[in-house]
Amino acid sequence: MAEPIRVRYAPSPTGQPHLGNIRTALFNWLFARRHGGKFILRVEDTDQDRLVPGSVEAVLEALEWLGLDWDEGPGVGGPHAPYFQSQRLGLYREAAERLVEQGNAYRCYCTVDRLAQIRAEQQRQKVPLRYDRHCRSLTSREQRELEDAGGPWVVRFRMPTSGTTTVHDLIRGEVAWQNELLDDFIILKSDGFPTYHLANATDDHLMEISHVLRAEEWLPSVPRHLQLYQALGFAAPQFAHLPMILGPDRAKLSKRHGATSVLEYREAGYLPEALRNFMLLLGWSLDDKTEVMPLETMVANFSLDRVVRSGAIFDREKLLWMNGVYLRQLSSPELAKRMRSFLERGLPTDLTPVDQDYLLGIAPLVQERIKLLSEAADLTSYFFLSELDYDPATLVQRDMDRERTLAALQRAQAELSSAPVFEHQPLEELLRGAGADLGLPPRQFFGALRVAATGRTASPPLFHTLEVLGRKRVLHRIQSAIQRLAQGP
Ligand code: GLU
Repeated sequence: MAEPIRVRYAPSPTGQPHLGNIRTALFNWLFARRHGGKFILRVEDTDQDRLVPGSVEAVLEALEWLGLDWDEGPGVGGPHAPYFQSQRLGLYREAAERLVEQGNAYRCYCTVDRLAQIRAEQQRQKVPLRYDRHCRSLTSREQRELEDAGGPWVVRFRMPTSGTTTVHDLIRGEVAWQNELLDDFIILKSDGFPTYHLANATDDHLMEISHVLRAEEWLPSVPRHLQLYQALGFAAPQFAHLPMILGPDRAKLSKRHGATSVLEYREAGYLPEALRNFMLLLGWSLDDKTEVMPLETMVANFSLDRVVRSGAIFDREKLLWMNGVYLRQLSSPELAKRMRSFLERGLPTDLTPVDQDYLLGIAPLVQERIKLLSEAADLTSYFFLSELDYDPATLVQRDMDRERTLAALQRAQAELSSAPVFEHQPLEELLRGAGADLGLPPRQFFGALRVAATGRTASPPLFHTLEVLGRKRVLHRIQSAIQRLAQGP
């Protein structure tokens, strides 16, 4: 692409960073990285009534967590600073005034009551709801009188009443609107704040945005923006409207379908690289089979040609599966690092902080099973607890009785206390020999030992587990199992 590529992600800080919005950020980021362009972050905070405190921080946190770094915007600055629209109000007022002077916009003095009346009447007649253009044709005398009366006014755009406005959307192809069906929309509100349309179009121009990639729900804004660009004498950027994200019932993805905030996924124990990969597939594909791919592949191949038009279905099971794939791809030290904060939140405080070397031994043992980092504490708590809580009856394996179990545990205790090295392979040989000696099939002997050492009937491979637990803990646990059994029910 010849022109410098400049794309933006323009969140409104009105709540938690929704997956759908962050997918838009991801696509913009990939587009910029693919073409050596710039990714700009602009906060669209002009709708003061809808601002939710903390939401800007939450968006930035979500982007950082996912590794979507921005080249211009909050925190990093840039040639078009400030990147908060609430700090750029003068620019929008100037644009609105120019439009009024040129005759492309007009002041509207209609009261809230009058607008409500028109609306009610239109509803009754079952016609499209829109402003009746009353103030569009005020005489200068009428206007002066209204001005003198000192009531509030807004600025409305003077939409052409004939012709069509057409866009060539890079995903959707040609889309056209009949101008007569479009409203004289408000561009400046009575409090002097711009509406989304004016601020968004002005900034896309001033920030030299080359491509606008955003969700499909914004498509109806395009004719308004194009008309604004034309009236202001600005060249319009190119547009690409991304498919909606739908729940399994094909309704727009919402809370009803489960968590929608990216940060909730972080808390639930998803890896950012897994969520990023998953979000990419919400509307884009590399080919017809590849699902898991490294970031470099995404960056090297991202293109709008492979963005679908129809809605992308959010499949939670697939995300969970993908998270497991990514967890298994981590090196064990990296898995240990990612598990740490989840473990420390999930374990009793007297067991934290957990020992680094111990954790490095534990992580590879659960790597095959863990699907979410939030399972870390549950999956590994028996490594840390000083006393295990389990029903002693589970020590007694099928076709065994208390006496034989006691004898087996005592033999294991003796072998393990004198084992020359406490490593999985020699331990396995030693215990297999002892089992054969006792005439016990491995299932019975090792089953009892597993419960004694972990308190569970299922665990990672037994001998590796014993090695990581270490001689002292294992002997203490076998002793405790023997006592529990000896005390009997
Ligand atoms: N502020 C809008 C939003 O919240 C931006 C839409 C656009 O990208 O034009 O999504």
